[in-house]
Amino acid sequence: MVRDPDQSASGLHAEAHHHHAIDADAVQSRARAYATSKSIPFTSMRQRVLALLAASGKPMAAYEIAEKLSDARRVQAVQVYRALEFLQEAGCVHRLVSRSAYFACDHLHGSGETVVFMVCSQCGAVQEAASDVVARGLRGVAKTTGFKPRHPIVELEGDCANCAGEPAG
Ligand SMILES: [Zn+2]
Ligand SMILES: [Zn+2]
Repeated sequence: MVRDPDQSASGLHAEAHHHHAIDADAVQSRARAYATSKSIPFTSMRQRVLALLAASGKPMAAYEIAEKLSDARRVQAVQVYRALEFLQEAGCVHRLVSRSAYFACDHLHGSGETVVFMVCSQCGAVQEAASDVVARGLRGVAKTTGFKPRHPIVELEGDCANCAGEPAG
């Protein structure tokens, strides 16, 4: 429970914000710096996809992104996927496996940091928290089978504090 005052015991950093607003400028400049460091272009498609996700604040599927970005010129999903690949490499976008959706992130994750995504099944908002306790637990579980975990990510589906506080229906 993120709002538990005893956060140190749960191993959760104070990174979980409710309705966390994405710093759009910060993620854009992070993506730009990444592109520069790799000598690859920060194309307008990459910029537009990132800007849309940062403004949306919620996960979007690639086809939704393509639809939203289409004007007189139709944007193809394959273009969006390519942009998303870059943005994930740059650490500015995460993929939610459970929903095949993508969302912007302005945290600076350590490499190999275990992140817990909490997805609200009512409003669709995603909150993130890094957890050492979860990381240790996962490593322990993997060890019993000799499994080598690559992406230390956990997705939790449930109700955010806002939605849980409101009477249903
Ligand atoms: Zn993140
Ligand atoms: Zn919610």
